This record gives sequence, structure tokens and C-alpha cells, in this order.
Amino acid sequence: MICSRRVFRCFKTLERWGNIVTGAAGPYFVGLAVVLISMGTICFFDVIAPTLSFPFLTIPICILIALNLFMHYFYVVTVKPGFLEDPPREHGSSIFWAKKGNRKGKQKSLTGGVRWSSRGVKVTPASYTKCSKCAKLRPERAHHCRICNKCVLKYDHHCPVNVFAGINQCVGLHNERHFILFMAYLVLATFCLCVSGYTRFFDSLGVTYQIWEHHVPEIMFAMIYILSIVLCFAVGVMLAYHLYGISWGETSVEGQDHEEYRRKAKERNDKFVNSYDLGKKKNFEFFFNVGEGGYGIITLFVPLRINPYTDGFSWARREGYDSHHGIRQGEELTDEEEADV
Ligand SMILES: [Zn+2]
Ligand SMILES: [Zn+2]
Repeated sequence: MICSRRVFRCFKTLERWGNIVTGAAGPYFVGLAVVLISMGTICFFDVIAPTLSFPFLTIPICILIALNLFMHYFYVVTVKPGFLEDPPREHGSSIFWAKKGNRKGKQKSLTGGVRWSSRGVKVTPASYTKCSKCAKLRPERAHHCRICNKCVLKYDHHCPVNVFAGINQCVGLHNERHFILFMAYLVLATFCLCVSGYTRFFDSLGVTYQIWEHHVPEIMFAMIYILSIVLCFAVGVMLAYHLYGISWGETSVEGQDHEEYRRKAKERNDKFVNSYDLGKKKNFEFFFNVGEGGYGIITLFVPLRINPYTDGFSWARREGYDSHHGIRQGEELTDEEEADV
């Protein structure tokens, strides 16, 4: 027992050091990501784009993909995840903000009592717990980030490094949508580059004896091509993992917690029910705030900012549930226990 505790403390120290190092290196990862994404874009438009068929159709689509990639990366790095002490987020008035399809104007802040969303789902105020680290009262789905040392609304994870693309901040209520869209466009862009550029890749390696007549050096193109294959696969797996969680109405943290709750409920012959799970379609609609009562589907294809459906102090609930079922008082995992997993 003493031994395992000592090992655990050792891990804790290592993790703390890791946090300090990744925290300090974070801005460099962001710089590296910008350089690599820019190099990839230059390679594509210099070497591959002139060879595409139907350029009137394909070039604008490629430009739109590149624009989405850059803008969602910019948003995920600069939009604050939603710290507990931040003032309520208002809908912005700049050209980067999407307009709502139905002319009802700004979204109302979802504080106050129980209400029904226009998607026919009940939205109820969150329950509150006290954070053991910063001693603040926080709504459910908020967690304390050890690196930011603050409580974050609908905390997903702190992201110092995302393979090669660092975002160097928390992913939470206000930037999770951009995080997912950034990954989706990165996978799409690298996939397009790999599929449409493989003959140029062989040229760059000197396999085909074609003369290299591009501005980009062969070695840079070959490097970017190989990196694209790796990123497409690695980020694709991460994206699939996150989309799977969203389809169940869970964040990364909740995914782990709910697994534990399911096990505990099963031991009692009970079944754990996640009250945020509204069914696959609605879970995606609420996450991206699109569809009936939300923004147009077009907001997924043009790089505009929108607010989430909630301010983080009220949550849409599954029909017939005001809280999770199958979990008893005192069984909820706290941040401290999660760290032990
Ligand atoms: Zn806290
Ligand atoms: Zn953080």
C-alpha cells in the first residue's frame, strides 16, 4: 500500500513537471503548427492545384477548405474556453459572426428556470458543486483545469499538444466546436493532398524522372506529403474518438466518468442513464448549435463564429430525466479522483 502510494506520488511529480514543460513549450507548438499548416497549403497550391481537373469547381472548394482550416485553428487558439469567472458571452457584431436564419435576433441567455428549447427539448438549470481546488461554486459539467488553474465550463481537456498542431489552451464550452471543426478540416485537407498529390510525390522522390518545375523544393513537398499521411491517420483517429463521445452526449472527461458510473450501477443491477444524451441526431445538433432553432447547416462549411446553445449554466435534458439515473449521492467522481485514474 505504502509502495503504491509512493509510486503514485512519483507519477504526480512527473506529471507536474510535464505540465510545466508543455505549458512553457506551448507557444512554440502553436508557432510550429502555423508554419506546418502554411507549408502544406503552399505545397498544395503550388504543386497540386495546377494539375486538378475542373479547376473552376475544384479550386474554390480547395480554397474554402484551406480557409476553414486556418480560421478554425485561429478560433480554437484565441477563443477562451469559458472560464467560470468570465462575463457572459454576447453574440458578436463583426463579420466573423454568423447571423441566425430565423429573424428572432440574439439568443437569449439560458439562465433562470426550466424552459423548452425550440428543438422540443427541456433545458433545466444546472446543479452546483464546490470546486475542491479554487473553492468556487460551479455548475455541473464544469471541471478544474490543473494547467490553467481555473474552472472551465463544459471542460473537455487541456490541449498543450495535438499531435503536431498545438492549441495551448483548454477545450471547453466556447471553443469545442472550433476544435472539432479544425480537426475535421485538417483530416479533409490532408486526405485531399494525399489522394490528389501521389503522382507529384513520386516525382519529388525522383522515381518518375520528371523534371521538377515548381517553386517548392522536392524535399519540402516529399516531407509535407509524408507528414500529411501521418496526420490524416492520427488526427482522424482522434476526431473519430471525439465524434463518438459527442454522439453519446459526453465530453472526454464524462466519457471516462460515465464508464465508472455504468460499472457501479451494474453492480447494483441498475442501469446508468446519461441525462445529456438526447439521441444521436439531437446530440450533434446541440453540439454544433445547428438545425431547428439553431443556426443554419451552412455554419459548418463557412468559418464563422456562433455561440453555443447554452451559457453553461443550463443543460438540455433527455425526456423524463432531470439528472443522471443510476448514480447515488456521493458516488460522483471529483476532479481529484479523476486525476488518480
Ligand atoms: Zn476550480
Ligand atoms: Zn487548461
